Amino acid sequence: MIDPTIIEEIKSIVTRQNVLTDEPMCDHTTFKIGGKADVFVSIINEHEILRLLELLRSRQIPFFILGNGSNILVSDEGYRGVIIEIGSAYSGVRMLDDIVIAKAGTTMAKLSHFAMENDLTGLEFASGIPGTVGGGIIMNAGAYGGEMRQITYRVKAVTPSGEVIYLSNADMEFEYRNSKAKKEGYIILQAEFRLHRGEKSVIEGIMRDLAKKRRDKQPLEFPSAGSTFKRPQGYYAGKLIADAGLKGLSVGGAQVSEKHAGFLINTGSATAADMYELINQVRTKVKEAYSVVLEPEVIFLGEF
Ligand SMILES: Cc1cc2nc3c(=O)[nH]c(=O)nc-3n(C[C@H](O)[C@H](O)[C@H](O)COP(=O)(O)OP(=O)(O)OC[C@H]3O[C@@H](n4cnc5c(N)ncnc54)[C@H](O)[C@@H]3O)c2cc1C
Repeated sequence: MIDPTIIEEIKSIVTRQNVLTDEPMCDHTTFKIGGKADVFVSIINEHEILRLLELLRSRQIPFFILGNGSNILVSDEGYRGVIIEIGSAYSGVRMLDDIVIAKAGTTMAKLSHFAMENDLTGLEFASGIPGTVGGGIIMNAGAYGGEMRQITYRVKAVTPSGEVIYLSNADMEFEYRNSKAKKEGYIILQAEFRLHRGEKSVIEGIMRDLAKKRRDKQPLEFPSAGSTFKRPQGYYAGKLIADAGLKGLSVGGAQVSEKHAGFLINTGSATAADMYELINQVRTKVKEAYSVVLEPEVIFLGEF
């Protein structure tokens, strides 16, 4: 538990009403799973985040940066520390010449719609990814042949020691669902994107087609974190899981989706322990059947 005097200190440096205690993380993750976090703070500006990080560092209080919680499984026991949400309270997108600049908490949907409204192409792939710009940059999120690395021009971040830095696309060392920022624990504040001139109606059409593909193929009616596993070299996780006969496999309220076996879904009452056990069973069975090790794409937070 966090000392109440430290909670008061946190309240004195960030917007007071944005500091919550014993906050259920199931309300902040797309899995709709997760116990309580000791403290949950929604950040509204750079000043707040820098001061908060300084305080937490000096008191050695553990913290975790949350975007939209769309790639996270939080333990049933919750999180002993401070969750710093860089989300809707820290969002906004604008254009400077041919560069689109977005605060880290901006949703990918808002960013890609902004680009479309301004006749800019390149972000269509991101319109259906339910995360923030910060989460997308960290994860090098991608879909339908697009990836954040293809369009990212520059990233503004805070290092673990509290220094604000700018990273070029090359500095970010993007990899499949990974980046230098993820490995080094940088916190993303803002990202800049270089896009190309396009035609609004064409861009809108592509976005509509991709949204339909998602609705047709993905179990969007159930809480999930999207694809639970990374794509193994030379295979598709969903196909391996389906071919191993695991569609519909359940542990408690956690289930391998019948619609898309790459998605592990919460059918309504799944605990984090159910989901974790299901993930492990799927990994074991796929390894036994095909000698392929599935690596989770989902990030685990708390004790498992
Ligand atoms: C229905 C569904 C479909 C999905 N489809 C796709 C898809 O097509 N492609 C794809 O790549 N992903 C997909 N995902 C997964 C997820 O949306 C992405 O990984 C997304 O980029 C995560 O963003 P987030 O803001 O939700 O991050 P979170 O889940 O909140 O966090 C993910 C990681 O990013 C870190 N993080 C978040 N914000 C910051 C920040 N500002 N600074 C530093 N670190 C930060 C967190 O600490 C954590 O390590 C899908 C998920 C769902 C539920």
